Amino acid sequence: MYHNFINSEWVEGLDVSTNINPSDTRDIIGHYARACETQARTAFAAASQAFPTWGAWGPQQRSDALDMIGSEILARRDELADLLAREEGKALQDARGEVLRAGQIFKFFAGECLRLPGELLASTRPGMTVEITREPVGVVTVITPWNFPLAIPAWKIAPALAYGNTVVFKPAELVPGCAWALTEIISRAGLPAGTFNLVMGRSRDIGNVLLEDPRLSAISFTGSEATGRKVAQAAIGRPGGMARFQLEMGGKNPLVVLDDADLEVAVSCALDGAYHATGQRCTASSRLIVTDKVHDRFVAAMLARLPSLKVGDARSNGTRIGPVVDASQLDQDLAYIQHGLSEGAQLVYGGHALQEIEGKPGFYLQPALFIGASSSMRICQEEIFGPVAAVIRVADADEALTVANDTPFGLSAGVCTTSIKRAAQFKRELQAGMVMVNAPTAGVDPHAPFGGRKSSSYGAREQGRYALEFFTHVKTSYINP
Ligand code: NAD
Repeated sequence: MYHNFINSEWVEGLDVSTNINPSDTRDIIGHYARACETQARTAFAAASQAFPTWGAWGPQQRSDALDMIGSEILARRDELADLLAREEGKALQDARGEVLRAGQIFKFFAGECLRLPGELLASTRPGMTVEITREPVGVVTVITPWNFPLAIPAWKIAPALAYGNTVVFKPAELVPGCAWALTEIISRAGLPAGTFNLVMGRSRDIGNVLLEDPRLSAISFTGSEATGRKVAQAAIGRPGGMARFQLEMGGKNPLVVLDDADLEVAVSCALDGAYHATGQRCTASSRLIVTDKVHDRFVAAMLARLPSLKVGDARSNGTRIGPVVDASQLDQDLAYIQHGLSEGAQLVYGGHALQEIEGKPGFYLQPALFIGASSSMRICQEEIFGPVAAVIRVADADEALTVANDTPFGLSAGVCTTSIKRAAQFKRELQAGMVMVNAPTAGVDPHAPFGGRKSSSYGAREQGRYALEFFTHVKTSYINP
C-alpha cells in the first residue's frame, strides 16, 4: 500500500485505487491511497505553515536539495523508466528519455536557485532609485496529467521549489506510481516539513479544495482543455480572492511536408511525431499536411515504414509502440477512427484494437493512418490523443500554411522543407508556441520555454528561465535615500 505524503508524514487515504499495467491488465502495480477532502486541506495548512521556513532557506541550501533530487532520479533511471513503462505504457526507450528529462530539470533548477535575477533602474525623479526584485508566490497547487507522469510534475515542482514556494501536488488518477516514486525521492532531500505534499485521489473528492483552498496562491495545471476551463473559472471566482493560474492543455499539431522536403527526414518526423509514445503527447502530429507533388511518394514511404513500429508490451525488447493508457482512452481512439471513416477519410493502415499480444491482455491499438482527409473533419479538428494521424493533401505551400493554422489549438507545428526561405516563412506565420523545422512536432529541450497559444495554453510559459514568470511575484520598490 502506497500512502499520501502530507506534512512530511505518510498517511492512509479515504480508500485505495488499484494501479494496473496497460500492457498486461492481469498485472497489478500496487494499491495507492486516495486522499479525502480533509486531508487535502491538511496538506494546504502544512504547505502554508512551511512557506516562511522554506523561504528562509538560502539559495545554496535550496540548490543542494534540488540537486540531490535530480541526482537520485538520474541514478535510478532504469528502475524509474521500468515503472513508468509498466504504469503508463510508454515504450521503454521513451520512458528512459522521460526520466532523463525529469532529472535534468531538477538539475537545471538547482542552478537557477543561485541565479535569481533582479534589476536596478534609474528613476525619473532625482535621487530616487527603482529596484525590481522577485519573491515567491506562496503555496502552489500542481495538477498534472497521466501522459508524462514524471517529466511534467518535475517541470512544475522543481521551479516552484527553486523560487521558494511550497507545493501541494495532485497527480492524475491513472499514474500514482510515478508520483509516489518521485515523492519518495523528494521526501529524502531534507526539506522542511510541509514544503512538499502529495495528495493522490479523485478530482471529484478533492478537486474543489485543490482549486479553492484559501491558503493557495497559484495553480499550475496541465491537462485537457475542458478541465483547464474549470481550473480558470475556479481560480478567478475563488471566494476570498483570485488565485494566479497557468494552463497547458491540448494540441492538434500540424506537420507540413512541402514539395522540396527531404522525404526520408519528413517520414521520420511524421512517424515519430504521430506514433511514438503511442501518440499520447500534447505535441503529437495528428495532422500531416502534404503538398500535391510529393503526396503519393510520402504516403508510400509511410506505408513502407509503418510496419517497423512494433506494437507490444511497453517493457519488451523491440517494442516501439506501447499500449494505449486505459480502456476509456482506447474507446475514444476507436470512436475517432469510426468518425474518420464515416466522414469519408480512407484508412490505409492499422486502426484496429489488438486484444492481446504474446498472451498478454492489454489496451493495444495498431497505429492508424488516414489519407484523403480534409481540415474540417473531426479527426483533423479535435484532439484524439492516440496513435492516429490523418494526411491532408494540399495544392501548395500557401494552402499548407492556411490548413496548418486552421485549428483551435496552437501548441507545436512543424515544417519539412529544404528551402531556407520557406522555413523562415513558416517559422514566422505558423500560429503555434513552438515551431519545428525538419524535426518532429514532439520532443523539446528541458531548458527551453515550453507552451502554446490559442486553446493550447493560458498564462506564463513553463520550463527554462521563463518559469520564473509564473513562480515569482515582481516587486518594484522606489527608494529615496
Ligand atoms: P485531464 O484534464 O482529464 O486531467 C488532468 C489533471 O486534472 C488530472 O490530475 C485530473 O485528476 C485533474 N482534474 C480533473 N478534473 C479536475 C477538477 N475538477 N479539479 C481539479 N483537478 C482536476 O487530462 P488527462 O486526461 O490527464 O491528460 C490528457 C490531456 O493533457 C490532453 O488534452 C493533453 O493534450 C494534455 N496535455 C497537455 C500538455 C501541455 O503541456 N500542453 C502536456 C501533456 C498533456
